Amino acid sequence: MIDAHIHLDQYKDEELKVMLQELPGQAIEALIAVSMNLDSCIRTQGIAAQALGRVKPAYGFHPEQPVPAEAELTVLLEWIGQHAGDMIAVGEIGLPYYLRAEALARGEAFDMEPYLKILDALLALAARLDKPVVLHAVYEDALTVCDLLEKHGITKAHFHWFKGPEEAVARMIQRGYYISFTPDILYEPEIQELARRYPPELVMAETDGPWPFEGPFTGHPTHPGMVHDVAAAWGGLHGYSIAEAEAHLTANTVRFYQL
Ligand SMILES: [Zn+2]
Repeated sequence: MIDAHIHLDQYKDEELKVMLQELPGQAIEALIAVSMNLDSCIRTQGIAAQALGRVKPAYGFHPEQPVPAEAELTVLLEWIGQHAGDMIAVGEIGLPYYLRAEALARGEAFDMEPYLKILDALLALAARLDKPVVLHAVYEDALTVCDLLEKHGITKAHFHWFKGPEEAVARMIQRGYYISFTPDILYEPEIQELARRYPPELVMAETDGPWPFEGPFTGHPTHPGMVHDVAAAWGGLHGYSIAEAEAHLTANTVRFYQL
């Protein structure tokens, strides 16, 4: 299988070494490794260079962090343009749903304008480079991101660990956008409902590692092999055998990322 979204750069060197060595034994063929910012892009690139083709890097700016200085963003955009040849997608990019929610909960104002500008610049870059995009866009933010994708004429969009209103779900299905499920599909009723609703041909499996999970995964470090659990749970909701579910999810990921 393929882990369609993981933050390899956030694992410690020693953990990472063991994790990459274990991939063949876990029947994991490839990982889509997303980046957070310039430092993260450079580390992800270095990891990919040593991973014999198993690690497919995506370069971007994760929205759930402080707004970078203008100059820093310019350097990042240039760097991504220069390394587009070894990049599988632009990501992780999107809008800061959780940062905003936390600020509002503290009674503080939150300015979305700079984040919208950054996302707009990254989407323009993806369109120019003709690369797919990996999106962090949940709840009502998904609708704003759909507007921006349409503005830039981007059709290859992967909304990772998606959750959101029916209006966004219907629009994303209509546009043929992909989503991916994490190990929380084993225990989150909201996610299981979405998994029943979303067309099986537009779905992938991911871990978003090293993000920790609950339920049966409590206390277990997140690793790519957990996409097999995602496949089993997703397949169970659709009446597929584990082998069928794994084959579907892998084929979808290969098709989307042109692996
Ligand atoms: Zn992520």
